[in-house]
Amino acid sequence: MIPRKFSLLLSVFLLAVPLFAQQQTPAKPKPRVIVVGVNGMELDIIRPLLLKGQMPNLSKVIENGAYGKLRTVSAPNCPRVYTTLFTSTNPEEHGVTGFLVGGITANTNMMKEEPVWSMLSKGGVTVGMANVPATFPVMPVNGYMISGMLTRGKNCEDGVLCAPKLSEVMGGDAVYPKSLQTELLKNVGDFYIDCERMPAASDLKGHETELINSWLDKVQVIRDQQTKLFDYLLTTHPTEFTFLAQSCEDRTGHWLYPITPFNVGYNASINSVRQDAFPNQYIAFDKVLGSILKHIDDNTYLIIFSDHGIKPLREFEEKDPHAHMDHEKTTPVIAKHDFADGDDVPGSFFAMGPGIKHDLRLMGLGASVYDVAPTILHLYGIEQPKQMRGRVLTEIFEKPDNKVAAKQ
Ligand SMILES: [Zn+2]
Repeated sequence: MIPRKFSLLLSVFLLAVPLFAQQQTPAKPKPRVIVVGVNGMELDIIRPLLLKGQMPNLSKVIENGAYGKLRTVSAPNCPRVYTTLFTSTNPEEHGVTGFLVGGITANTNMMKEEPVWSMLSKGGVTVGMANVPATFPVMPVNGYMISGMLTRGKNCEDGVLCAPKLSEVMGGDAVYPKSLQTELLKNVGDFYIDCERMPAASDLKGHETELINSWLDKVQVIRDQQTKLFDYLLTTHPTEFTFLAQSCEDRTGHWLYPITPFNVGYNASINSVRQDAFPNQYIAFDKVLGSILKHIDDNTYLIIFSDHGIKPLREFEEKDPHAHMDHEKTTPVIAKHDFADGDDVPGSFFAMGPGIKHDLRLMGLGASVYDVAPTILHLYGIEQPKQMRGRVLTEIFEKPDNKVAAKQ
């Protein structure tokens, strides 16, 4: 289930934690950090919404923290970037190079480098994770883990861009520890683990308006379930480190990005139906953020990031092995992110918390997905291991802790 390299380390930590806790009493309280990943959050769409006051919660985070673009990897897609972020190593090193690796759907058994949640667990930090992409099958942590995008199940046998319900998961565990699954089914319900699969072009033809509206309704049902799940976990299972993620925004952008007749792939029968569909995803995300913010006090760090942006088609890059892989060529994709040059579709980064500068805009592409894990470790005073290629984002702190930062 877990790569041998970490399973050994994890069993050592599971034995070591209780001893450690006894010896260190009274333990210094560890920082509380909540990380929220939003798949493919696109600043081009978000900035006008912020100006119009339609994302009040994200505005609050920007005012009270640091924000900017987040440099991503080449040909970015979810499993490739998330695993880069987890490990701060490049895709060739960590092994999760795309949705499919050697013809097999990306999964945690393929991960060849140690992810940040394993390092935190070993450091005695309690860890809670829910719906984070590329975490299936789940791995043992010092807390809980519920998998996200790429979870396999009924009507979602390959696990790629579809939505199995919790009770319908197959081919591995979606919840650690197992006992939590029964509790979630009872108290949260049989929720969808990932976002809805996009409709095929053949199904859309002649039923565009009806299908677009019913698809968007289903997306909102999934988001409501997710909001309930996050709220339940933050209320009843608070952890020092919590990592939550959403993926419906990106999926909507791929086929309902508000393009104009001048863009490639414009089809009025689809693209004029709901020009508000994609921006509405972020207005809806802002409400989810509002419910998460209720669990955040002045001593909590909040990091929101996206793994990449998403832009209307500009070049087809047929030679790129990642081109179009994300949607099996069945849906009329009009926007994408797996461009060969990842700098065409940067992600985004927002951070606030004790000692983080207020209203700081990070210019350019100085912050990258490689830097997130080292920065999280820094918050816990854990030195980043040698294999990590990123750096601590010291520029976001009022007074960088030199003791830790100097080791970079
Ligand atoms: Zn995508």
